[in-house]
Amino acid sequence: MARKCVCQLCKANGTVDVFYKVTDTKGRNKYYCNKDEYENFKNEKLKRKNLLYYLSKEVFHYKDGQVLPPVFLKKIGELNKFYDYEVIQKCFEKNQETIQYWLINKEFNNEFGMISYIFKILESNINDFYKVWSLEQNRKNKEENNQIDITIMNQFNDSKPSSLKQNNSAKNITAFLDEEDNY
Ligand SMILES: [Zn+2]
Repeated sequence: MARKCVCQLCKANGTVDVFYKVTDTKGRNKYYCNKDEYENFKNEKLKRKNLLYYLSKEVFHYKDGQVLPPVFLKKIGELNKFYDYEVIQKCFEKNQETIQYWLINKEFNNEFGMISYIFKILESNINDFYKVWSLEQNRKNKEENNQIDITIMNQFNDSKPSSLKQNNSAKNITAFLDEEDNY
């Protein structure tokens, strides 16, 4: 029997012959339920990295190595429970001017006040961007499904004519009935 393993992400139990294996830079093997789960995780990580880079460079004008405040990251994490990182980033981009205006012109008592204010701006219109993003996702999904339909149709056309198929299934049933008789 194949060796047991645990999914790095969802902690599901499995075996090394079924789970998707990824070897890291140190040569250690890590296992995931399947390739999709792993690719999706990698993709999310990349989107988060892009977003945080954008925020530290364009919104806060931080220097290399300067870190975003923990409370800010926490707020991003809360938004990400529902909104995709892409939606959050789009929303920041579109509100950039407004945010920059208030960062320069408003006096904040502290960093927490400043961050809360930024998120108030964001939350006031993030659903508009979410709506556009969802429509786009639906369109993409439909396109992918159409692609699958075409593949299936092609496979179907390549296979035997339906009359022959019927004959085959008729034969199969006969064979099955014959077998039944043997019992
Ligand atoms: Zn998993």
